[in-house]
Order: sequence, then structure tokens, then C-alpha cells
Amino acid sequence: MPGEELQVMQDLAREKVCISCGRPIANVKGSTSFKCPKCGSYEIVRCESCRRGAVKYVCPNCGFSGPN
Ligand SMILES: [Zn+2]
Ligand SMILES: [Zn+2]
Repeated sequence: MPGEELQVMQDLAREKVCISCGRPIANVKGSTSFKCPKCGSYEIVRCESCRRGAVKYVCPNCGFSGPN
């Protein structure tokens, strides 16, 4: 059913997941989310372990890659 599919997508959008490893950050201390420094429209979400490990991320909106 198309309606059910839409509901699932909305549920996924509501839960923030790390952009690098895909883990939900809801209960992860030290995780962060911030607007992309370049385009300012995409919300970058990073979990604590990816921040500590300086795991690379790429903004799907503009292609900006960090953390540097
Ligand atoms: Zn992560
Ligand atoms: Zn961006």
C-alpha cells in the first residue's frame, strides 16, 4: 500500500542517524547534529564514535566533505 510506505519514510526522517555509520543517535551521548557548513540546508548528524575517529562525512546536498 502506497500510504504505508509513506508512513515508513516519515518515521525514518524523524529519527536522526549518524551520516557516516547510519546508527541512530537518539540515545548516544556526545553525538551532534549541525547544518552543513557549506550549503547550510542539510542537517549533518554525527555519532560520538565517528566524531572521535574523525570519520569522513559527505553532505548529500552539496558534496561538502568533512570534518575538516
Ligand atoms: Zn557514526
Ligand atoms: Zn551541504
